[in-house]
Amino acid sequence: MSDYYNVEDVFGSKVFTLGKMKERLPETVFEEVKAVMEKGGELSRRSADVVAGAMKDWAVENGATHYTHWFQPLTGITAEKHDAFITHPDPYGRMIMEFSGKELIKGEPDASSFPSGGLRATFEARGYTVWDITSPAFLKEDATGVILCVPTAFCSYTGEALDKKTPLLRSMEAVSAQALRIVRLFGDTRSTKVTPSVGPEQEYFLVDREKYLRRPDMVFAGRTLFGAPAPKGQEMDDHYFGAIRERVGAFMKDLNLELWKLGVTAKTQHNEAAPAQHELAPIYETANIAVDHNQIIMETMKKIAERKGLHCLLNEKPYNGVNGSGKHNNWSLTTDTGVNMLDPGDTPEANIQFLLVLACILKAVDDHADLLRQSAANVGNEHRLGADEAPPAIISVFLGEQLEDVVKQLIETGAADHSIQGGKLMTGVSTLSDIEKDATDRNRTSPFAFTGNKFEFRMVGSSDSIADANTAINTIVAEAFCDAADELEKADNFELAVHDLIKKYLSEHVRIIFSGDGYSDAWVKEAERRGLPNIRTMVDAASALTSEESVKLFERFGIFTRVELESREEIVYETYSKSINIEANTMIGMARKLYIPAVVKYEKVLAETVNSIKDAGGDSAAVGIILSEVGAELSKVLKAVENLEKVTAEAKALPFGKDQAVSYRDRVVPAMTLLREPVDKLETLVDKRMWPVPTYEDLMFEV
Ligand code: ADP
Ligand code: MG
Repeated sequence: MSDYYNVEDVFGSKVFTLGKMKERLPETVFEEVKAVMEKGGELSRRSADVVAGAMKDWAVENGATHYTHWFQPLTGITAEKHDAFITHPDPYGRMIMEFSGKELIKGEPDASSFPSGGLRATFEARGYTVWDITSPAFLKEDATGVILCVPTAFCSYTGEALDKKTPLLRSMEAVSAQALRIVRLFGDTRSTKVTPSVGPEQEYFLVDREKYLRRPDMVFAGRTLFGAPAPKGQEMDDHYFGAIRERVGAFMKDLNLELWKLGVTAKTQHNEAAPAQHELAPIYETANIAVDHNQIIMETMKKIAERKGLHCLLNEKPYNGVNGSGKHNNWSLTTDTGVNMLDPGDTPEANIQFLLVLACILKAVDDHADLLRQSAANVGNEHRLGADEAPPAIISVFLGEQLEDVVKQLIETGAADHSIQGGKLMTGVSTLSDIEKDATDRNRTSPFAFTGNKFEFRMVGSSDSIADANTAINTIVAEAFCDAADELEKADNFELAVHDLIKKYLSEHVRIIFSGDGYSDAWVKEAERRGLPNIRTMVDAASALTSEESVKLFERFGIFTRVELESREEIVYETYSKSINIEANTMIGMARKLYIPAVVKYEKVLAETVNSIKDAGGDSAAVGIILSEVGAELSKVLKAVENLEKVTAEAKALPFGKDQAVSYRDRVVPAMTLLREPVDKLETLVDKRMWPVPTYEDLMFEV
């Protein structure tokens, strides 16, 4: 087979697209499906049978043997349980493959082992998966064969959401309903729906698979827990946007092809700041599908990497001392008549609807900064947010020069009559054209930045699902829209009322706007002065889920019940404790079984060398110095391992919950650092050929 293909031919070939449905379904059924997709409601059982049959025929023609309800439990990754299409053979022993509407719509995995935060006891384990008709079914092909994947939501017997998709879908409906009230106020009578669009930029690292397998910390924790810095990091800025190395290029090529077949619009690829770090960005799409596709992207990256003798590291901080990975979540709202509510146009000062939307978003972000922070919390992200690198754990909004100036005018005078325009960029070279500039430069350190016609939420971790973040954004914006609409719908003079409201919101929430350097210590102090929360750890962020304001917010819009929120908070503590426990145990194991034995061997070589030098009448002083240096570090290692063993056992003995998580954070994590230090020091002293694991140099510079 030729290595070349036409993207137009392969795109979506593994997806049961609307186009395929149109071809394969009777017209009445197709129209019914389309109506349910667009407006909600339920498919009749007869039609569901027809759709299931067509889906199965298409899947089987493409080699599928099984189907699965594909869902997103609270682990943050996806889950599947395969069922073959086979039925009882007929009396002649012939097999007929079947897939019914009932099987398409509802599944009941015995999924009692997923985290539920106390929502389900294992003896009451019923959970249902329910077909999400808005996200297309697709074929997954791997060593298991070809599997038809049906995207589904996952709920408990009593109707509580046990997954990330259900609340997301609820939040999309909430923001749509409230956004419609806003556009109606401005005379839009035609739109019937407003959809959040999302484009997540995915960062990742690649590492040689054989080396990866020799690092237990990478295998068990997804990141290095030990490792002295390589002589070179990212300080030369020569990796960012650099030429893509052959091996990485081959990975990207296969990845793109696979993603295009799966209907994922992989668009942009480049090298990122750190050595062996890269990025992939798809074209934005409906939030729900963007979330599913981001899961597919992460899964496909892992699969293709393995085929290429590589391993894809999605962890937020695989290596100390160089940049970690995140996911920039680009978000906007578009009406079904095609208007992006976040597009200011050329004269934002005159676009009153945009200014109201902007004011509402600023209010939403300021009122619920803690929730946004929480929505991006995961264990790996602890090493990015509020730690050594950006974005900081403090939520603020970057608007850019043009909008900030408009906001200032509005606050000062209640009206804005002009805005800063971009103008021309003079290149100073006659053969280069002068170009139109954007009105605003970019800011790279802001956690919530306005970028032209969308907001970019930059806190989400690279390994995390983007569902929580988008659920939070949709919901807080729905609330702000709702409050504004409540006020404006009853106003006698709309023009006056809307101006007053915009001015009020902007004045009240101007403290959330910040365009300076988000990495600086000065900002930490300034934010404190402004009263903005700075929630440094995920254990502290978790309670934002169950604050009275949050419960009120989520219950008001039917996104989460109090019980669902409490369960999610529990899961945060449990996940954190379990993850740190794994990291601590991995460190203990590596220290005892790899590092200490290697160092002891090296000591023996040194000791024998000292003796033979002495026997030969030479000067053994230098070797003696090295020997005692190594010995001193080794004593520190031993002491630190014993300490880590002790505090880990104590934390583990506590019951699951916040206290346990705090114990892991405040006692185990510092003990891990204490162990890492002497081991990393030894790495710089011991003969490299005797060091038991690949080093940062080997891992980052030999991909
Ligand atoms: P950058 O911000 O790095 O310059 P792009 O402008 O290409 O990059 O956008 C990054 C991501 O934002 C892409 O996934 C892109 O599809 C997405 N995006 C662009 N416009 C919108 C929009 N209106 N709403 C949501 N996402 C968008
Ligand atoms: Mg961007």
